Amino acid sequence: MSGSGESLPPEANEPPGGFGLSPDPLSDPVAYPHLSAIEIAEVAPFGEHCFFEKDQPLFSAGDYPFNSHLVLTGRVRIVDVSTGERVVFVRYGAGYFTGDIDLLTRRPSVVSCEAETDVEAIRLTPNQLRNMFIRKPQLGEKFWKSFQRRRELLLLSKFRGLSIYGRGDDKAALDAVQLLFRNSVPHEWFDTSKEENRLKLQQIREDVQSYPVVVHGSQVLFEAPTREQLADHLHLRQKLPSSTYDVLILGAGPAGLGAAVYAASEGLFSLVLDGLGPGGQAGSTSRIENYAGFPDGISGRDLAHLTYLQALKFGADFHVPSTVSDLDRRSNGLYRLRTIEGDYVLGRTVIVATGVSYGLLNVEGLKSLQGAGVYYSATKVEARLCRSSAAHVVGGGNSAGQAAMFLSQTADEVSLLVRGSSLRKMSSYLSERLLANKKVRIRYGSEVVGVDGVERICGLRIREPNGEIREEFTVGLFVFIGAKPRTDFLPQAIARDEKGFLLTGPEVALLAAWKEPRPPCSVETSLPGVFAAGDCRHGTAKRVAFAIGDGASAVASVHNFLGRPSSRQTGGEWRP
Ligand SMILES: Cc1cc2nc3c(=O)[nH]c(=O)nc-3n(C[C@H](O)[C@H](O)[C@H](O)COP(=O)(O)OP(=O)(O)OC[C@H]3O[C@@H](n4cnc5c(N)ncnc54)[C@H](O)[C@@H]3O)c2cc1C
Repeated sequence: MSGSGESLPPEANEPPGGFGLSPDPLSDPVAYPHLSAIEIAEVAPFGEHCFFEKDQPLFSAGDYPFNSHLVLTGRVRIVDVSTGERVVFVRYGAGYFTGDIDLLTRRPSVVSCEAETDVEAIRLTPNQLRNMFIRKPQLGEKFWKSFQRRRELLLLSKFRGLSIYGRGDDKAALDAVQLLFRNSVPHEWFDTSKEENRLKLQQIREDVQSYPVVVHGSQVLFEAPTREQLADHLHLRQKLPSSTYDVLILGAGPAGLGAAVYAASEGLFSLVLDGLGPGGQAGSTSRIENYAGFPDGISGRDLAHLTYLQALKFGADFHVPSTVSDLDRRSNGLYRLRTIEGDYVLGRTVIVATGVSYGLLNVEGLKSLQGAGVYYSATKVEARLCRSSAAHVVGGGNSAGQAAMFLSQTADEVSLLVRGSSLRKMSSYLSERLLANKKVRIRYGSEVVGVDGVERICGLRIREPNGEIREEFTVGLFVFIGAKPRTDFLPQAIARDEKGFLLTGPEVALLAAWKEPRPPCSVETSLPGVFAAGDCRHGTAKRVAFAIGDGASAVASVHNFLGRPSSRQTGGEWRP
């Protein structure tokens, strides 16, 4: 599913031009299934009867929370107001139900629904819907699939989400767009380095003081919002409950998302926190081809978004943006997390799935150009900035290879700078594809030794295999080397290897620091009740499938830990 409405380069499998949206959305039976009398009778006990008078709103765009309604008699219309005009998107009557994917993501409604006649309906709150999904899976699937398809249809229509106005080389604009992209918030980015976009903005606000400008319809919502302001406006952040979670999951990459699906589906009260949004590194890759079950490949963002929805369906809570800065164990054995955004939350156990970050290229001036031509991910957002130009990717592993393949769809030429003399660290399907790609130039024995640019990168200095330094123009330098685990914020009591990857299970069992009278669970760290999964864990294969499986395995360890009597109760002795 394409979750955002930004005008970005099409994916390889998308049709290049306009989309064949049917003039009558009701003719799409997945988006608008008509429920039989038997199905209506099955839904009824999950909700409440309600009545609306002609022209009364059932819910309005921006309402939060909002409900789904199964129409019993009368007719409703769905109205899109996002362009500043009222456009009736679809009308339907008895046997059809209202709602879309934001009932599950717990965000405000993006459209309005009005009673076109007097209406009798069954109202289902998001919690009632979830209850129905669990108890009536076949019926739930109809609602679930329809909500996803409806969002797709809406994005193909004239519907406009948020508009972001800002320059392509402005870090703050990129940051705002990244937040929306990662969280599948429909949006369109207007690069104000282009005259036409500046004029468009002038018609909405003449005296802009600071960028980026966030607009909905014809209303300016923010000038230069912080990440938190934007996230609060979109309800990406909920107020955290004071109650104690069974498991706190740090990171919403594949490992964290895998853990969330398994934890929530097995009845654990689970919270996922992420500094940006669901996806992690996988969310920054255009196509994952080695994930079982998807022979044609799947975009990392689609995989992440679907897994995120799956976790929500089972009742996991998400909190974004939420960068964990502290973890401490209280005297009662509970773990308390603190985030840089100022939140606190308690959990009985913790799964650390914070992955890795790239960027240890030791080149002067690189840091100040981060987000302004120097990138550590290659999504549609960055690819758009490289259109019809030259881009450079540093690295010889799968991440660099995927990034080079993806960027070659938009850039004129992509140089893949590999320090070694082969692509042996890369999966063979990927290296073969790169070798066959005429737009990708693989340059072995090459290293970046300097970058040029003040506000934005404009050039690179590259040391060639013969030692010669070559100056080259670039619009984007994409760095995928020196993966460093994001574990710095964790307490020292959690043992790591020399690079900072977390030690777990059998490795921990050998440590003198392990004092419990039981062996550690398979992915338990040296702090009892804290588990690690995915790329941040020592010795794991740095792959999507592995990370998802590792997340699930961490949940098995959580069960083991919670189900086991505490060491005080057993009083037993155990040594490796
Ligand atoms: C460009 C690219 C292409 C790739 N292509 C493939 C491929 O085709 N096939 C494949 O199998 N693998 C691929 N990989 C590797 C794969 O994406 C990773 O192995 C996988 O994403 C690891 O998952 P993870 O959940 O362990 O960590 P990550 O994906 O790194 O996710 C960690 C998450 O934790 C969050 N986080 C970090 N610190 C904190 C904190 N303090 N508080 C809150 N949140 C935090 C981050 O925001 C992030 O969302 C690719 C990687 C890249 C970069």
